[in-house]
Amino acid sequence: MSALAELYEKIAACQDCEELVRTRNKVVPGEGAENAQIVFIGEAPGFHEDQQGLPFVGQAGQFLDQLLSSIGLKRSDVYICNVIKCRPPGNRDPLPIEINNCQKWLDQQIELISPKMIVTLGRYSLAKYFPGETISKIHGKERKIDNVIYFPMYHPAAALHQQSLRQTIEADMTKIPSLLARIEEVKEEESKPQQLSMF
Ligand code: URA
Repeated sequence: MSALAELYEKIAACQDCEELVRTRNKVVPGEGAENAQIVFIGEAPGFHEDQQGLPFVGQAGQFLDQLLSSIGLKRSDVYICNVIKCRPPGNRDPLPIEINNCQKWLDQQIELISPKMIVTLGRYSLAKYFPGETISKIHGKERKIDNVIYFPMYHPAAALHQQSLRQTIEADMTKIPSLLARIEEVKEEESKPQQLSMF
């Protein structure tokens, strides 16, 4: 069993949040390859995700699929997950204690996948990786820490409710390929053998 599949078993058995354990249909750990270069992190499963056990399969997910395909990527090329692995009842906001309880799972996912780029979608993943920042100020502006690029984006559901954000999200998405290419170039430079001068 892969390390990610083993982790999924642990997440599926999690009993940490009494209300979410009682009301959830399926746990939604995440979807994608263990060697994905990019991880997209949303907020929490909604109705459809809770039914299917997969992240971003509703309307916001369809828009995310379109955004991915606009830069030549498919779902299977990336890893998609959420800050919270169980649906908050009625799609209410996750509680601070739930975010805290669930943090260990996201941290283990990131450690296993070790992506080159982490894209935050919406305010909960923004708060984790860009604490104290405001999405309207920093969306589409990457930050590189320890050779990982952190890239904040609006949540795709925001574009469904606010048409004016659609172009902003689409434009931010188009920056991803060149950011990834740049990190690849730096890695190549670093791994080139040092040219020793004979003289
Ligand atoms: N919104 C999210 O943040 N995550 C999902 O999985 C679905 C909708």
